Amino acid sequence: MSTLDSLALTRIPPEDEALRAEVRTFLAEAIAGLPAHIRARSWGGYSTELSRKLGAKGWIGVTLPPAYGGGGRSAFTRYVLVEEYLACGAPVGSHWIADRQSAPLILKYGTEAQKQFYIPRVCRGEAFFCIGMSEPGSGSDLASVRTRATPNDTGFVLNGQKIWTTNAHHCQYMIALVRTSGTAEDRHKGLSQVIVDLSLPGVTVRPIEDLSGDSHFCEVFFDNVQLGPDALIGAEGQGWEQVTAELAFERSGPERLFSSIVLFDQWLQYVRTPQGRTESAQRLAGKVLTQLAPLRAMSVAIQDKLVRGQSPIVEAALVKELGTTLEQMIPAAIADDLFACEAEDVPVELLMTLKYVTEASPSFSLRGGTRDILRGMIARGLGLR
Ligand SMILES: Cc1cc2nc3c(=O)[nH]c(=O)nc-3n(C[C@H](O)[C@H](O)[C@H](O)COP(=O)(O)OP(=O)(O)OC[C@H]3O[C@@H](n4cnc5c(N)ncnc54)[C@H](O)[C@@H]3O)c2cc1C
Repeated sequence: MSTLDSLALTRIPPEDEALRAEVRTFLAEAIAGLPAHIRARSWGGYSTELSRKLGAKGWIGVTLPPAYGGGGRSAFTRYVLVEEYLACGAPVGSHWIADRQSAPLILKYGTEAQKQFYIPRVCRGEAFFCIGMSEPGSGSDLASVRTRATPNDTGFVLNGQKIWTTNAHHCQYMIALVRTSGTAEDRHKGLSQVIVDLSLPGVTVRPIEDLSGDSHFCEVFFDNVQLGPDALIGAEGQGWEQVTAELAFERSGPERLFSSIVLFDQWLQYVRTPQGRTESAQRLAGKVLTQLAPLRAMSVAIQDKLVRGQSPIVEAALVKELGTTLEQMIPAAIADDLFACEAEDVPVELLMTLKYVTEASPSFSLRGGTRDILRGMIARGLGLR
């Protein structure tokens, strides 16, 4: 291999790129009429109807084996789909977690019965999952979780509380990180993952309202919830290893770059008008695009590493940290630009989108691991601590 070859950027294979046009056309019709300030919610937006339509197209679980209803295609196919969903702000939140991590997790660690029961329904856009990791007092310090699944004659009895659980009020299932043995002081030891049917007696789900007025995440309480023996996913006591592997996939995808992209596009439309085409706006547009392009290239390169079975945990942390910094810069810089020059005839829809993204943006560097935690991981990966 020549030096030039080794420097070549990872590219999405042409057979996957070929899917873009069809997805774009489909989405243009499927979400026609949805205003930008709603589309700005994107993977936080929720539409079971859209999920079912995408399932019918074969675009959920696209990397999963056809034997379980999946598409049998590569992770790059999924990358193209996700980029297109995010670029137009399709409300894909209902199946998001199930597609990104729950079904792949079940495929990797689940029993044959679990695979057959859950995965085909995920692929049809009918079974939705949420992630039960965080608890009050156990967010960054995840290994200290206290929710406990105590083994008994008929499976496990679940007691405890999860918090910030995205879409718990809309999902049928949660994959929860729980303690099955030992105490919180045992840290990583004694943790397991269980699938919780959220309709079981003893489960209470309470939505939490965020700064923007949306209620997309919840508190979830477990009071003597009886789980069957088949609730355990993977090996008992292996929960920590399973969760860590999940997080590398969660941190490097396009969703860590494109959370403000609907706003950016909406603003660019204004910048193309005579009133909006100021010198400072054009400079800002260039600044955003020159940061976005290399970050996207890094995200695609990490995808390639994941496809090759590597575990690019530090690289994924770096993409998330840089990506969310850019995502948060976009609404702040657009607001500065619009208001500093007392811009004229700014469309109301642009202002409503700006308002929503400004209110949502603090959460970009909290969800999926906070900025401080990621910086600590990067420093450790570089051998600096
Ligand atoms: C929009 C959104 C959606 C979410 N969805 C989910 C979900 O679906 N499922 C789920 O399980 N969780 C979810 N979360 C929770 C999220 O993962 C946690 O909020 C996050 O891990 C931080 O945990 P915490 O809130 O307990 O804060 P803490 O861990 O208490 O942190 C508070 C502050 O202290 C800093 N800090 C903590 N420890 C250290 C350290 N060692 N070094 C330096 N600084 C430190 C943090 O960076 C942060 O600024 C979501 C959060 C948000 C905002």
